Parts: sequence; structure tokens; C-alpha cells
Amino acid sequence: MRIIEKPILEPSLVYSKCLNSIGIRAKRDTFRKVKKYIKIKSDEYDSKACIGDLYTIPIHNDVNGILTKDDMKKTLYTQQMVAKPKGRAIYDKLMALAPLSKCLFCGIGQVSTLDHYLVKSKFPTYSVLPYNLVPCCKDCNTGKGSSFTNVKDKQALHPYYDDFTDGQWLFAEVKETSPLSVGFKVNAPTNWDNISKARVEAHFIEYDLKNRFAVEATNELAKLNNSFTLYPLKKRLRKKHLQKDFLKFKNLHLNSWESALYQALSESDWYCGEGCKQRAI
Ligand SMILES: [Zn+2]
Repeated sequence: MRIIEKPILEPSLVYSKCLNSIGIRAKRDTFRKVKKYIKIKSDEYDSKACIGDLYTIPIHNDVNGILTKDDMKKTLYTQQMVAKPKGRAIYDKLMALAPLSKCLFCGIGQVSTLDHYLVKSKFPTYSVLPYNLVPCCKDCNTGKGSSFTNVKDKQALHPYYDDFTDGQWLFAEVKETSPLSVGFKVNAPTNWDNISKARVEAHFIEYDLKNRFAVEATNELAKLNNSFTLYPLKKRLRKKHLQKDFLKFKNLHLNSWESALYQALSESDWYCGEGCKQRAI
């Protein structure tokens, strides 16, 4: 999970730029009829997102009874924003917001698409709303599919609005087995309210982070095994080396899989001793 500032793109301007590329004049005029409505709904989205209330937005099939779901999904988003130069410039600008091209939902995949936080099949009004479009990887985008929730504490984190970086909620655990493995879990700070605790858990489940982080960790463990074989260290120095890496990752992203992994490894006497010689699975 990565958090960034929400895009500095005026929703009404984005909507106009997309609709202006529509070839048929009568169709453009129909889209113009809901411009004010789109502005009102965009402001409402922003206000609700700021307080974690996007779950209260009802699913709908049209835009103010004037535009259909297909008008928004197909004509405006797919055919204008994704495919036409003016819309594509906005699309690319949003994709470029992710630091180092890392997916904002998982922090491991490479950005390859934009995800509609409120899915466009259920919430067509927000099909080209910049605040609803999040740069992400293919795995997060396809894994989420068209899922949505109308329950506050089941909402995954929104990278433009939900800052859950004031405490550690992601942890790893070394399994003292042969072959070696590491598991990931959520354990939110005890002073957080129940909804915040539930939401980080919901995010972890929604994007299958337990399994995906474990795959990344296994690769890292294999590299460490190789490194400790090539450059043998005493247990005490190995621990110090791992502690240093933990601090490095923690400083970058407190709740990254790397930070959780190196914390668990450096705190495990077993791993720092015999464990690191085990093959990873
Ligand atoms: Zn991702």
C-alpha cells in the first residue's frame, strides 16, 4: 500500500476534455447535459472519500436518467479517455502518479492500468473522475474484479484518501521449519478504532496480500541464503546486518512486505543462527 496526494486535475475539466473528443455532435450535447450533475457528484465523492464514507454511495445504472452505463463506461472512458489523444494524455498523467511505477494497492506490482476504486460497472457516474482512478498493477486490478462493498469497515484503502501510515499494521512471522518459510499477518495498533483495524484487514484480504507477499518473501529468502553462504557471518553480525536492512525498509515504507520480513528475520534467533541455512519454499 502506498499513499499519494490526490490528482490535481479538475474533475469537470477532465469530463469536458473526454466528451469533446466524441465524434457525433448530438451525442456530445447529451453528455453536456449532465456536466453540472457530474460536478456535484464529483464534489460529493471527494467529501465522502475524505471521511471514509464512499461505501454510502448507492450503486446505479445511469447518470441522472440521461446517460446510460454504457455511455460512461464505453463511450466516455474506453473510447475517449483510454483511446483518444486528449483523454489518453490524462490517463497517462494519472498512471505516472505512482512513485517508481509501483502499484499503489500492493506496492509490489508494476503499474500497468488504472483501477476504478468504485467500479464503473456499478458506479458509472465516476468512470472518468480522476479521484476514482488509481494507478495499479494487473494483479490488483483483475483480482478485485467488480467487487464493491456497502459496509464501512469492509472498504479497502484508497491511496488518495486513506492514510494508515501512523502505525505498524503489517507483520511477518518466521516459521521454524525445513524448508524455511515466512507468513504475513495484519495486527493493527491497539489504539486504533475498530473500523480502521478492520479496514487494513479488508485491504489485506481484497488484494490477496498474504499469498502475494509470501511469494516475494520466498524469493528474498533464497537470495539471503545464497548471500550468507557466499559471505559467511557470525550469528551476531548476521542479526546486525538484518536489523540494518529492517531500518532501511521501515524508513521507506513502514507497512511494506520488506519491512515486515526483515523485522521478523532480525528478531528471530533461530533464523539468525541455523534457520538462514535452510532452503526456502
Ligand atoms: Zn498491485
